[in-house]
Formats: sequence, structure tokens, C-alpha cells
Amino acid sequence: MNANRTSYDVIIIGGGMAGISCALELHDSKVDYLVIDDRKNIGGQLADVQCTIRNFAGFVQNGAELRAEVEGLCQRLHIEVLSETNIDRVDLTLKKVFSGSNIFTAKALFLATGYRVRRLVLPESMEFESSYIYDCESNEQLLVGKCVAVVGGGDNALMDALWLAERCPQVLIVNRTNRFKARPDVIRDVQANPRITVLQNSEIMSVSGSGKSIQSIAVKNNQTGACSKQECEFLVVKIGYAPNTELYASQLDLDNGHIKVDARGATDVAGVFAGGDIVAPPYPRLARAAGQGVIAAGAIRDFLSVNS
Ligand SMILES: Cc1cc2nc3c(=O)[nH]c(=O)nc-3n(C[C@H](O)[C@H](O)[C@H](O)COP(=O)(O)OP(=O)(O)OC[C@H]3O[C@@H](n4cnc5c(N)ncnc54)[C@H](O)[C@@H]3O)c2cc1C
Repeated sequence: MNANRTSYDVIIIGGGMAGISCALELHDSKVDYLVIDDRKNIGGQLADVQCTIRNFAGFVQNGAELRAEVEGLCQRLHIEVLSETNIDRVDLTLKKVFSGSNIFTAKALFLATGYRVRRLVLPESMEFESSYIYDCESNEQLLVGKCVAVVGGGDNALMDALWLAERCPQVLIVNRTNRFKARPDVIRDVQANPRITVLQNSEIMSVSGSGKSIQSIAVKNNQTGACSKQECEFLVVKIGYAPNTELYASQLDLDNGHIKVDARGATDVAGVFAGGDIVAPPYPRLARAAGQGVIAAGAIRDFLSVNS
């Protein structure tokens, strides 16, 4: 899909659930818009959702199926998407969006650049890259029967540890603080699982191994300073997500990296709206992203009707 103009009434940055929902609503109201996304395919994080989706009222099995449905709908409706285009600079006041030497202008912007996975950066990260796992389910064959350490203390880390404990003889959780941020029922299951060992107040200082394979990790207790060497063949990294808001950081009001918006998605810059995972307070869910995209489209329509 290509853009045939550089000027639109609305430019939507991000073609995930929030951006596409906003586009569908604008399209339905015959508002002139363009979606710009850096990925090859629309849907954003849906491409990474391998697990069953149980909290979204649609008849879908997982992210891939929902993504295909959304893409099919966008193709049938001729939703205007410019894909594989990274926005590297924005001027929110002037409503200008830059991608290399290309400049797009609009009367209103909808920011929906979503989350990215936080990577674990250790001195040896490049050397052992293939032993760092960010998604357990699609690497099941690699992990079965192995000695695995999970880094993190939230829902994703603990649920992965439980999943791993069904397939691996021993699972170590390395958590930086002294308490988990996961759901109480998940914490209880972890604590009751004899295959799982927990190191609280702990951080991985280095990994060592041979070739591209990890054999052990050095863990430091950040309260006592004590170091220990732990056997480990794969490192499952679950240290959370970061909002893609660096582009806008100095131009609008952020709360802990998330954009502050009113009930209809308006930011503190006139004509600039935002939705989905990048919006404060953090609550990364498909239904919220879709809802905020649709609500903001209504607010954008109203904004255009008095500012065009
Ligand atoms: C593994 C996993 C499982 C999940 N499971 C569930 C679940 O079961 N139920 C649920 O409700 N939610 C789930 N979620 C969360 C849900 O997927 C997200 O809340 C939702 O997809 C967010 O949509 P979004 O449109 O805000 O952002 P995204 O989907 O992140 O879309 C943002 C898009 O913007 C693009 N982009 C970013 N920066 C730029 C730039 N500078 N230029 C151009 N494009 C850019 C990104 O590449 C991306 O395509 C899960 C998430 C993950 C990762």
C-alpha cells in the first residue's frame, strides 16, 4: 500500500489495534486520513501474540488470526496504510511528520505507536543472542528439558516460569526487587511449584558459556552484594515493555513515558490525539486500544469540523 499524497486531514502514526480502529472509524465517516506504520504488515503487536486471546470479544484463537482478520477487513475497505515507513521526527504544533527526507502534513494527528519489548542488555548480549528467549511458546522445542532462568517478576515472567516448569527439570526466577508484581494466584502457583527456585533482590551480572550457548549466569544480590554462579542454558527475558513515545517526549505532557490524554484522547497539544498502549495510565489491552482509537476518531472529526 502506498501514499499518493503528502498532505492529509489526519495522519495516524502506528497501524496497531488503536491506529487501525481510528482509521476504520474515520474511513466510515469519510474523513481524509493516512495510517503510517514501520512494519511490513498492519496489526502491530498482534503479530507477537502467539497465545490464546481470552479477554477480547471476538471469535479469534490468537494474535495471528485476529491480525489476518483485521488485514482482510482493511483490504476490503481500502484503508489507506503506508507500511514499512518509520517516522523519525514529528513537529506536533505544525502537524508535520518526517520519515527520512519525506515530509507529511496534516490538520490533526493520532499517535498510536504502541509498546516495544524491553531487551536485556549485558556485555555479552551479542555473543549469546540466540540463548536469550523473548517468547517461550514459539521456542518450545529449544527449551524442553533444558535448565532455564527467567528474568523478571511480573505476570509474564511468572506465567512463563510455570509454563517452563511443565517442560523443564529446573527453572530459576531472577527478580530485581523483593516482591513480585504478578497476580496473587500466579504468585501462589509459583511458590508451590517444586521445580521453581526464586532469587529475589537479584540481578544477572554476566553470562558465560561456549560458542553461542550459555552454560551459566553470574547473579548478584543487590542487598547483600553476594554473588553466585547458577547453571543456565537459556535465559527467558520478561522485563516488560516500553512505550514508543521518545518521538514526542519534549513536545507534550508525559507521565512515566505514557501520554496524558483527556477522555476523548486529546493531548495537551491542540489537534493531537493519542490512544492505545502509549497512553497513561498504562493498561495494555486490545479492547482498550480499539476503544480509544474509535473514541479519538470522533473527537478528531469534531476538531476538524471547527478547525478546517
Ligand atoms: C505477547 C503478547 C500477548 C498479548 N496478549 C494480549 C491478550 O491476550 N489480550 C489483550 O487484550 N492484550 C494482549 N496484549 C496486548 C495488546 O496486544 C496491545 O495492548 C495492543 O496490541 C496495543 O495496540 P496499539 O495499537 O496501542 O499498539 P501496537 O500494537 O504496538 O501498534 C503500534 C504500531 O506502531 C508502529 N510504530 C511504532 N513506532 C513507529 C514509528 N516511529 N514510525 C512508524 N510506526 C511506528 C509499531 O511498529 C506498531 O506496528 C498482548 C501483547 C503481547 C506483546
